[in-house]
Amino acid sequence: MLLSHRIRLEATSEQRDYFARAAGTARKVWNWALAEWQRQTALGQRPDAMKLKKQFNGIKYAHPDWLDAESKPWLRTIHRDAHAQPFAHLQRAWRRYVEQRQAGKKAYPPTFKLKGRCRDSFYIANDKIRFEGKCAVLPKIGEVLLAEVLRLPGKIMGACVSREADHWYLAVQVKLPEQLARLQRQGDGVVGVDLGVSAAAVLSSGEKIAAPRPLRASQRRLRIRSRRHARKLKAAKAGAGITGAIPKGVRLPVSRNRKKDARALARLHAHIMHVRTDFIHKLTTRLCRENQAVAIEDLNVSGMLANHRLARAIADVGFYEIRRQLQYKAQRYNTLLVLADRWYPSSKLCSTCGAHYIGLKLGERNWICACGARHDRDVNAAVNLQRLATGALVARMALPEASHAAMYGTAAGAVPAAGGKVTPVRYEHGQQDGSGQEENGAHLCAPFR
Ligand SMILES: [Zn+2]
Repeated sequence: MLLSHRIRLEATSEQRDYFARAAGTARKVWNWALAEWQRQTALGQRPDAMKLKKQFNGIKYAHPDWLDAESKPWLRTIHRDAHAQPFAHLQRAWRRYVEQRQAGKKAYPPTFKLKGRCRDSFYIANDKIRFEGKCAVLPKIGEVLLAEVLRLPGKIMGACVSREADHWYLAVQVKLPEQLARLQRQGDGVVGVDLGVSAAAVLSSGEKIAAPRPLRASQRRLRIRSRRHARKLKAAKAGAGITGAIPKGVRLPVSRNRKKDARALARLHAHIMHVRTDFIHKLTTRLCRENQAVAIEDLNVSGMLANHRLARAIADVGFYEIRRQLQYKAQRYNTLLVLADRWYPSSKLCSTCGAHYIGLKLGERNWICACGARHDRDVNAAVNLQRLATGALVARMALPEASHAAMYGTAAGAVPAAGGKVTPVRYEHGQQDGSGQEENGAHLCAPFR
């Protein structure tokens, strides 16, 4: 099983300087490769990453673009992984673009990376990184202090250094053998979870778990800091005598104060994200650790985000991330994860008599069924989901042991993205959406375990 551990680096200022240059190199190489790709395509050729890399290797120590002021090749000061990996990434980006377009989905071709507007990151191959206690030994710079030791035993598959606000992080991708990836479950409950906006999660036990809503709490601060930052930009524009949109190719001078504001804003965004991730991790771990089966609704998140009134609240809770984490944690705890398809009317079914209450409106928090049962909308939905979980669990028990393995093999799209990308050991959700679940008349789609 592939897992990734992201660790903050306690880097010295020289190390941070190196990271910034390496990330800059990765960006510049990406842009070069993309420009070359586009140029060759326009000429009717069929570019590919290997050929482009060869072409790049031919010029990287000679072409004036890649020489410093003393006409020395500055690429020699950066480890080669940082400038070799963008080619593989570019290849993958184009492949994904073509695949999505062929599948009739919305697709965007890869774009150029702009300094300050893109993620600063670079790659380190698995044989170039080593861990010694609380230090990581990286190529070219040696030991870097880590905020915590690497917790995952197993084979290191690669690593990626990236920046978030003022800090650099190291994400290490580790391949764990199955028995090491397994975690001990602490309970055998069966739970249905209704993910919502007013409470992040309502359990079938009736428990309501509120999300910290970090974004809402920080909204005021965010507004103040964004405004301050925008004012500096306005001042810079006025200073340069520009009115209206900034013409293409014009770089405004960046004052010290504008830099300072940008950093404060980035720190606030990072803080919001940290609060959110912490909550989601704790919630999903708890659900998988205490239950042998968990059922959630397979929400149509992008559809819900299109509803502007709900979008902020939904994005703030992070539904998508909750589902992603449940999927891989369920595997680790050997918990059965059941995704109810998105047309399963979990909140409209009476959990006592099974009657279908057609007219339920979004605003109705409580309702009374014809059978006399009083329902809290969310708890009722959670109870219905719990039923599904129980059903799926019974079905799994009924299967002979051999088919468990077969179910497992195909479960959760467990094949992680191959190649260098490290940060997310992320399953491709896209494949799951609509794959089979609609034709599958029962309100169950592939049970994950
Ligand atoms: Zn009823």
